[in-house]
Formats: sequence, structure tokens, C-alpha cells
Amino acid sequence: MKVNFFDLTEQYKTIKSDVEKSILEILDTQRFVLGKYVSKIETDLASLCGSKYAVAVSSGTDAILSALMALDIKPEDEIILPDFTFFATAGTIARLNAVPVFVDIDKNTYNISAKEVRKHITKKTKAIIPVHLYGYCANIEELNEISREFNIPIIEDACQAIGSEYKDGRRAGNLGLMGCFSFYPTKNLGGGGDSGAVTTNDEKIYNKLKQMRNHGMEPRYYHSFIGGNFRMDEFQAAILCNKMPHLENWNNKRRENAQLYKKYFQEYNLTEDNSIEFTKNNKVIIPLADQQEYNNLHIYHQYCIRVQKRDELKQFLADNEIGSDIYYPVPLHKQTCFNYLKRCDDDFSVTNAVCNEILALPIYPELKEEHIKFVVETIAKFIKK
Ligand SMILES: *Cc1c(COP(=O)(O)O)cnc(C)c1O
Repeated sequence: MKVNFFDLTEQYKTIKSDVEKSILEILDTQRFVLGKYVSKIETDLASLCGSKYAVAVSSGTDAILSALMALDIKPEDEIILPDFTFFATAGTIARLNAVPVFVDIDKNTYNISAKEVRKHITKKTKAIIPVHLYGYCANIEELNEISREFNIPIIEDACQAIGSEYKDGRRAGNLGLMGCFSFYPTKNLGGGGDSGAVTTNDEKIYNKLKQMRNHGMEPRYYHSFIGGNFRMDEFQAAILCNKMPHLENWNNKRRENAQLYKKYFQEYNLTEDNSIEFTKNNKVIIPLADQQEYNNLHIYHQYCIRVQKRDELKQFLADNEIGSDIYYPVPLHKQTCFNYLKRCDDDFSVTNAVCNEILALPIYPELKEEHIKFVVETIAKFIKK
């Protein structure tokens, strides 16, 4: 049995005729930039998140970049973010010559540790960027406390978390001053190329973001500040508008798949409580999301387990035609491009351990129970070998 890490073709078959119709309509009208589909995806996203506003942009990376620019982030300003995330969260900060301040993560959720954030606040701290990693909301209650106490805004990197909920029922993108989304094709809501969006409840920020994506221009050819070309095109927006009505259902399918993984890992007696620092070599740590104190609504952008001999397991799975991937193998503080940053005396022990043990298994909505059973069976074979 072959199990791809992900497969977008099955899903596309279910929406193909609708997508084709809107793409052809755009070609007929020749309206490619900031047209009706861009407006519609903004309304749809704001409504999904429970936010007042959304601004469609060219990528998740540009969503974070324009959010930082909307806060007027200047050289030497410090921005706090987790050491364990996709590069874009840090790259955008560095591109503004601001200073990314990496902090260690929580060993149960893999999200930024609020306690570590508090330790790293200085007079120069201008924003905190929690990442809702794998589709599970960061500890926003404590982060908002810090935000209020020091008057530092929160920008959510919600690129992996569209439709996910914090335990109080509020959704990702509506938990800070701004929420950043990516519609990269493999995200839970993905377009046919690159695009993204920023959500907010703040009218001033909203207007600034709209101007920002169009070179800070308002009115035409008058520029009161410097923005960029961060516009989403109509083709991307049209594909996203056609997919949006299915998102809830697709996210639910991912959650059901996660439950099946849990069921089979337990059947094979492979699970282990992940409140320990390192994994035992005959066990698998599965996501803790569904347990009592971790009752945020997970959308499983990724389903990640932790195992010892991770690289050997990945190879063993590949030999058995099962796809898997590593998000992420290297902590940000170890990336060569950040060698210039002043070394702090943090040991990043959780991030370092997780980078060596984490492995993402197939979780896409169209995956079948027999696939999941086969993946767990194969892992059991490897571990008991
Ligand atoms: C995908 C992603 C981004 C960047 O989005 P792009 O659309 O690829 O630019 C940023 N942060 C996180 C956590 C992501 O997963």
C-alpha cells in the first residue's frame, strides 16, 4: 500500500467544475487585480475568524511583513518569537533590520512558552509573534496578560491555523492585534500558488494594511508611507472562495484522522505521555491536544509524533512507500543566517530535543482508515524490530 505524505488531487476533483468556471470568468472579464473575488475572500475570512476585517495579500510571509510594517517596526526593535517555527516568522523581522529574539517552546504543545516570553521582554520589545504551530493555538491567555502588562502588541502567525479555536471559543486570527494567514497550496486552505491575508479588529490598522499592500499609495500616486506590492491576485482569490465552504468539513476530517491515529497507536501499545523531556526508544509521543487541559480545537495542519531514531524511522517508512516529513529539523537560533545575532545564554533544550525527534505523518482529509492503520502498523514493526 502506498501512502503519500499529502495529495491535493483527490480534493480538487470535488471542486474542479466550480473552480474552472470562476477562472474562465476572470479570463473573460480580464479583471485580474483587487476585484470581486479578493473582496469576497476578505469577507469570508473575517467572518470565519470572527474578526472585523481581513486584508488579502500575496503570501503568508508578506502577511507577517506587512503586519510588522503596519506597526512601524524599526531597526533594532526587538520582536519575540518561538525558536521552533517556519523560517518566515523570523526572516520578515530580520528583513526590517529588527532583531528576532528566539525563545524556547512548551514541551507539550510545541508552541512558544509564555514564561520564556516574559523573561525576554526589554525596553526594546515592540511585538510578540506566537505561532499556532501545526494548527494548535498558542497559550494566548498568558500572552495577552504580558501584552497588556507591558503594552506590547501580539501578531499571531496563524499560517497553519485557519479555523482553529482557542479554548474560550475564539478563533485563530482573532486573538491578537493582527493575525497572519498563508494560503500556500498545502495549507489547510490552499490556493493555486502563493497568497495570504491579515485579519484585525482595529480600523486604523486595517486601513493602513490596505494602503500598505499597494505601495502605501493613497490617493493614486501619492505616498504618505512606504509599502510594497503585497496584492493577492484574482485567480488565487477565486480558488480560495470556491474552497472556503468546504474548509470546516476538511478540518473535521483531519481531526477524525488524528483520532484514528490515536486509536491505533494505543492498540499497538506505543503511546507515551509527552510530559517527559525525551522519548523512550520503544514508544511514540502523540499530540496531546485532545486531553483535558489542552482542549483548544486543533485543525491538524500537521500531525506530528516524537520518536527516537527519527531519521531511521523516516527511512523505514519511505522503504514501505509511506511519506513523512520533518517540521522542523533545525532550531532558528542555529540557522547560519542568524550567526550575526548576539548569543544569549538560553539553552533551548526543548526546541533542540524536539527538532531531533519530531516527525509529521500523513493527515490530509482524503486519507482512509486503512492508510492510517498501515502507517501505525509499519511504525510498530520498526519500533519492535
Ligand atoms: C507557511 C507558513 C508561513 C509562510 O507562508 P507563505 O505563504 O509560504 O509565505 C509563515 N509561517 C508559518 C508558521 C507557516 O507555516
